[in-house]
Amino acid sequence: MDPEFIHVDPRTLLRVEQSGQPAVVYRCKLQGVPCGLHVEGTASAVSAHLRGHGIIGPDNISTTCMWGNCSKTLKRGSMTRHILTHLGVKVRCPVCGAVKSRYDTFRAHIKFSEPCHLASAEMVDGPEGRVLVPTAWFATN
Ligand SMILES: [Zn+2]
Ligand SMILES: [Zn+2]
Ligand SMILES: [Zn+2]
Repeated sequence: MDPEFIHVDPRTLLRVEQSGQPAVVYRCKLQGVPCGLHVEGTASAVSAHLRGHGIIGPDNISTTCMWGNCSKTLKRGSMTRHILTHLGVKVRCPVCGAVKSRYDTFRAHIKFSEPCHLASAEMVDGPEGRVLVPTAWFATN
């Protein structure tokens, strides 16, 4: 089983190597400056990657989403969560099994659903996600 080589955002790569745990990565589809990199499907990784593309500035500044054919105008502060919806990353409630498309709707769910109050989010990978495993796995397995 030879894993196909994929280009990965250096920060995602570093995190995977340091944690020794695999991560699900997605190909960046930002137009303008195509980078061809894969980035981990988490808010922190996506936010760092957007910064690398120069999508920065105060959260309340309007910006245009340049992901694929999307040209939606939204606030800079909403960009990360918006990109996560492009990746198809969802959040599942482990208590009742409800799947939410955004982290904030999950937060609202556990807030208003009594039995789910203490639930912690479970990530649901998007359809185009690919698993990136740390190189140490190849050496030992
Ligand atoms: Zn990129
Ligand atoms: Zn978009
Ligand atoms: Zn629930």
